[in-house]
Formats: sequence, structure tokens, C-alpha cells
Amino acid sequence: MSTFKDLGLRPEIISALTELGYEKPTEIQEKAIPQVIASSQDLKAFAQTGTGKTAAFSLPILEKIDLNNNQVQAIILSPTRELAIQIARNIEEFSTYLKGFRVAAVYGGSDINGQIRTLNKGVQIVVGTPGRTVDLIKRRKLKLDSVQWLVLDEADEMLNMGFKDELDQVLEVTPDTKQTLLFSATFPREVDRIARNYMNNPLQIDAGKRNSGTDNVTHEYYVVTDRNRYPALKRIADINPDIYGIIFCRTRRETQEVADKLIQDGYSADSLHGELSQAQRDLVMNKFRKKTLQILVATDVAARGLDVDSLTHVINYKLPDQVESYTHRSGRTGRANSTGISIAIVSPGERRKLAPIERIIGKKFIQMQVPDGKEICKKQLLKLIDKVNDFEVNESQISEYLPTIQEKLEGLDRDELIKRFVSLEFNTFLSYYANAKDLNDLSRSKNDRGERSERGERRGERGERRGRRDDENMSRFFINIGRKDKLNPARLIGLINEQAIAKNIEIGQIEILDTFSFFELDKNFTDETVAAFQKNNVDFEGRGVNVEITEKKRAGSRGGKRRSSGGGKSHRGQGGERSERRSKPFGEDRSPKSMNTSGFGRSRKDRGGRRHS
Ligand code: AMP
Repeated sequence: MSTFKDLGLRPEIISALTELGYEKPTEIQEKAIPQVIASSQDLKAFAQTGTGKTAAFSLPILEKIDLNNNQVQAIILSPTRELAIQIARNIEEFSTYLKGFRVAAVYGGSDINGQIRTLNKGVQIVVGTPGRTVDLIKRRKLKLDSVQWLVLDEADEMLNMGFKDELDQVLEVTPDTKQTLLFSATFPREVDRIARNYMNNPLQIDAGKRNSGTDNVTHEYYVVTDRNRYPALKRIADINPDIYGIIFCRTRRETQEVADKLIQDGYSADSLHGELSQAQRDLVMNKFRKKTLQILVATDVAARGLDVDSLTHVINYKLPDQVESYTHRSGRTGRANSTGISIAIVSPGERRKLAPIERIIGKKFIQMQVPDGKEICKKQLLKLIDKVNDFEVNESQISEYLPTIQEKLEGLDRDELIKRFVSLEFNTFLSYYANAKDLNDLSRSKNDRGERSERGERRGERGERRGRRDDENMSRFFINIGRKDKLNPARLIGLINEQAIAKNIEIGQIEILDTFSFFELDKNFTDETVAAFQKNNVDFEGRGVNVEITEKKRAGSRGGKRRSSGGGKSHRGQGGERSERRSKPFGEDRSPKSMNTSGFGRSRKDRGGRRHS
């Protein structure tokens, strides 16, 4: 592996890099730096965020820039204000020992006159967002006729954000003799169009696998019905008490809703999206950078400019519409040699979206089970114990109270004391999760992923279990208990198993409705099933259980009306199910964090989260 010196950089730049802790070049730096130093051929580079691409394009430009010339020699376009500021800051750091060098960042949402004054002083490199750059060009305050380098950073994102016209305009006004360096994590058709129309025989370089997530990222997914999405999110946060991550939502509204729920439930969370003012966004980003916030709920666009290296998790609350956006999201963790986890929470119908992503990232998603209450409690309890162990006691502060405390606790031995303190801290958590239901979607086996019809998928997204294939070998049963009796698929399977109908009997489709439910079992045991429930006089949550054989529903049936074979009795279920969903959008209404009064986790007040109405 080469060093920065081998790549042809001058000692002043290398000194700055050493101070920044850059010991060795990354792959993209190793490929791009010597190429741009040696040749003015255009360059098309596949590179993710987090691969060191900023240095890959800035260092060779700094190496070649004319420090005695105060005209703009390089223009770097980036999709967001935050990224532009970050790039300019990096360039400032790289150029610490380059005398006479100046860089400026120009971006919207900020006073244009201040930026014009900076430009008037003379700068060699301008980093700008497309909109503000075009604005300054039109006002004739930014002159690009001496530009030798044009960098398009995150070209795919700029196009995604609708900056096509602005890019065209900047490309038009820069001299034909310039060298264009285009960096993109993905190469959709629009980026290729730019490369074709505005680049001259570009050399293509790849850093690592094209479009792939970094090797440091593990990709996991959880399958839950839509109504369980938020409760599952909370459990994922609870099983990872040290989480420092971004939760990606698809819309501003969803972002705000999820953030509000988390704040209400006592999590250290806040939202970041385009409807907030720039000042609000800056505030949230600063809190997140300083780790005052553990969880940031964000839209793709708003999170673009956030440069944070040590994220433990990226959570796709909903998968993005475009596969490329997933690579951008997941690329925000596992950076700068640390490891990270990218999680997708998917409904049964959304599982089909995983395969195309796997093809792009070149990795398989690992299916995870939403943790149950017991696992979470164990994890949180151990975390609490570790905290007690590691806590530094301030002797001088508490010494004056110790004699009274000793006196009051006299008679309690060590074991008793431990039990009481732990209970005090932990009881609300334990009781919250005591009867926690299984949130995993149990309606489908692992291997039928992606085999559903479109119609089946849409049904799946409604959290119902009607889209599965009609199995000839199954009988369908009606059971007179449902969601209102706290029945869920796991409990129903348990109930069936308890009847000991036959060893390893196969259970098929399960449909839980408000006040009754349906299940399928191996046809060979039809009579035995009905007989077993009758004989055992089964009781569930105080209700006598009645099981009847019912007609198999036909493919495509909406399932609103079922007729038992017994005597023409009909059961209506759909309306009730929907109204229940409307009134109770999230399954686990309260959080152990919000219920806690003794300071486990952090309360809303001391957390300082910003609320939005
Ligand atoms: P980038 O892809 O340019 O956003 O860089 C991602 C992170 O890696 C930034 O925090 C950089 O400061 C850091 N970085 C870039 N190149 C190197 C290097 N050669 N050695 C150590 N850290 C680096």
C-alpha cells in the first residue's frame, strides 16, 4: 500500500494530513490522487460517502492550484448546504500550510451579501450548492471563466434533488478546457447523461464494489405488520441501549410523527426534515453531533449534509422508493474503520424490496427476530448494573449524608439492598414488558420471500394474512376468540400445540380478527382438531373456546364474510378490525421509558427534545 508521499503530494499537504490523523490513503484516494495530478483527463468515480472521496478530489487540486492567482480555479458542487460547508472545512484543514490559499462555501438559506464579500476578496476554490452557485453566476459575482477543475460531488443526489437545470447551467459556463471530476455512489441514467454530454472521454475508477455498502456494515431486517412497525422500532432501540443512530423515514410528516412519538415515550430523539427552519436544523444537527441526542429521525434529503462518523445504527423505518437511496442511508454507518448495522423494518409485503437491494450492495440481509420482553429486560438490566459498576462516586458530596443513610438501611443485608435498588430502577421496565406480545410477523415462512403476487403484497401491507397460497392439504377452522381477547399468532400456535392433536402437526394460514379468528391445520387431522378442543374444554383469557371447521376461502375472496359448515352462522370482521386500527395506531402505547419515574433512561424534560405540534 502506498503513502500520501508516494501519491505525489507536497510536504505541506502531508504535514496537514498527518495532523488530521490521515496515515494512509484510502482506496479511492490511492486511485484518484495520482491520476488527477498526472493527467487532465476527465474522471468518473464510483464512490460512497465515507470512503474518503472529499480528500480524493481536493488533494490533487490543492497540489496543482496556483497560489499566486486569486481567481476561482476550482468549483465544487455538492447537493446540500451542510455537505458544502463540510467540504470547505476539510479543504481548509488540508491547506493549513499552503500560504495564500483561500476557499469559500456558498449556499442557500444564508445571507448572499456576506458570501459575495468573501468572493470579492479572491478565492481559489468555491464549494457551492447548485442553486446558490447559479444565483451568484447570474449576478456576475461568481466568475468561472478561469476554472480548471469542476467537481460534481454526489452527482446522483444532486439530480435526485432536482438540480438538473442548475447543473446544466454551471457546466455550460465553465471553460471547455477544464477537467471534470464526477463522484457518485450510483450511476442512474441521468448521471450517465451528464457524463456523456459534458465529459470528454472520462476515465472510470471504482473504489471497492460498485454501489456496494462498506464491508463494515451488517444489513439486518425485521418483518412486522404495519401496526407493529413503531413498537418494533422501540424494541430495537431498547435492546440497543447505547444506540447512536439515524432513523430514516420517507416523508416529512412520517419523520415528525415518529420523532414526536419517541420524544413522548422518553427517548433521546429529535427530527430533521425540510419543514424545519435552517436554525432549527442546525440546532438539531449540533445536538446530534455532540451526542446530546441518541436518535435522529430524518428524511433522506435533510440527513445528507450530516457528517457523523461513529453511528452505531441506521434504521430504515420504511425502505426508500429508490434502491440507490438505501446505499446512501446505510453508507452513513460503518465509516472511518468502525462497524455499523443497517436495519430495515419491513411489512410482509415489503420483503420483496430486499432482493434488489441485496443485488446492489452485494450482501445478504440477515433476518432478525424482534426481541421479546425478556431479552430486552436482561439487556437493560445488565446495562444498569454496568452503569452502577462504572459510576464514579463523589465522596465529598455524599459523605455528610452517609451516616443517616447507613442508619436508615440498617438491617438490610447486601442481597436485599441490591434487590431493592434494582427493583426501584427497573420495576416499571419489567412490568411494561411482562406481557409483551410477539411482534414478529409469523404469517410466512422464511423461504417464501418474494414469491407473492402483487395483490398478495398489498394485502400483506395491511397486516392481514390473506395473500398466501391456497393449500389443498389444509383444513380451515373458525375459533371464537380474537384480538380483543389478546390473541396473536404466537399465542394461537401455543393454544393449538397445547391440545396435543398430533405430533408436529402442520399449521397453515392464520387470520386474527377482532373477536374471532381463523387458522389452517393439516387436513388429515380435521376431526381430531375439533374433537380435541371440545374434549379439553379449552379456556382462553376467561372465555370458553369454540372451534369449528369452516369453508376454505376461495382465492381472491375478501374474507369479510365467513360461513361455518356447521349451521350457516356468519361472522363479520373487517369493519371492526379497521376501526380498531384507526383508534390505536401503535400497538404498544406506553413506553417503559415514559413510565419510569426514577431516572432510568431520561425523562422528557431533562432530555430537552424539541416538540412540534
Ligand atoms: P468522506 O468520504 O470524504 O466523507 O470521508 C469520510 C471520513 O473519513 C471523514 O471523516 C474523513 O475525515 C475520514 N478520512 C478520509 N480519508 C482518510 C484517511 N486517509 N485516513 C483517515 N481518515 C480519513
